[in-house]
Amino acid sequence: MSRKIPKKYLRTVLFGIVFVLAVSFAGIIWVLPSSVAAVCPACYGFQETQPDIYVQENVSEEQRAAIVSVIEDARQKLAIFWGPLKAKPRILICSDDDCFRRLGGGGRRGMSLFDKVAVLSPRGSNVTIAAHELSMNEMHHRIGLWAFSTGRIPIWFDEGIAMYSSNDLRYLSPVGQANRCLVATPTEMPTGMLEWNRTALIDRQLYAKAACRTSQWIATHGGAPAVISVVEKIATGESFEEASR
Ligand SMILES: [Zn+2]
Repeated sequence: MSRKIPKKYLRTVLFGIVFVLAVSFAGIIWVLPSSVAAVCPACYGFQETQPDIYVQENVSEEQRAAIVSVIEDARQKLAIFWGPLKAKPRILICSDDDCFRRLGGGGRRGMSLFDKVAVLSPRGSNVTIAAHELSMNEMHHRIGLWAFSTGRIPIWFDEGIAMYSSNDLRYLSPVGQANRCLVATPTEMPTGMLEWNRTALIDRQLYAKAACRTSQWIATHGGAPAVISVVEKIATGESFEEASR
């Protein structure tokens, strides 16, 4: 025997579901427009110029070639640290500020989403920033979605590795110096995303401190291979404290 559900009730439920879906979709576009752009680059005026490298439709052939060579150089730079890269993010390059603003970039030079997306602003379309964002993609890919979303890797280390592997001389002294720190590092560094973002607003030296702490860790633990091994351990479930001892 079947029980009939009143039509009026069904209509209300259906309307509710559609409403929630619409609000969530609008929410995603609003909060993470870069993720929507990565799924549909053409919706945001991007064109694929090389596999996984997207540029704005209106950029010239010359600009395209320059962008592609920046990405290739960044990948080569990273391979020295990480070995062959495993992450295959979609890379979106904004050549004007409007494009980056539409993707929610704000005042940053670049941004990344897990191992899936890297976005570069006009100011960030250089080898150092490209390598920074691609290093974050690589780290997240290797630790995996679960470890990434549960914050098993402290942000200072994640950012620190991005600055170290991209050899970012805004935050580190040149390779070959015994001490690569530009500022002293405190014993406590913010580990979670919210805490990190809050601290970054008031501490202009936060990135330099993270770079310093990371370079000290690398120097005392045996270079890039030690980082690769920590990342592997974290991927298998160890905590950062255990893995980085
Ligand atoms: Zn970063």
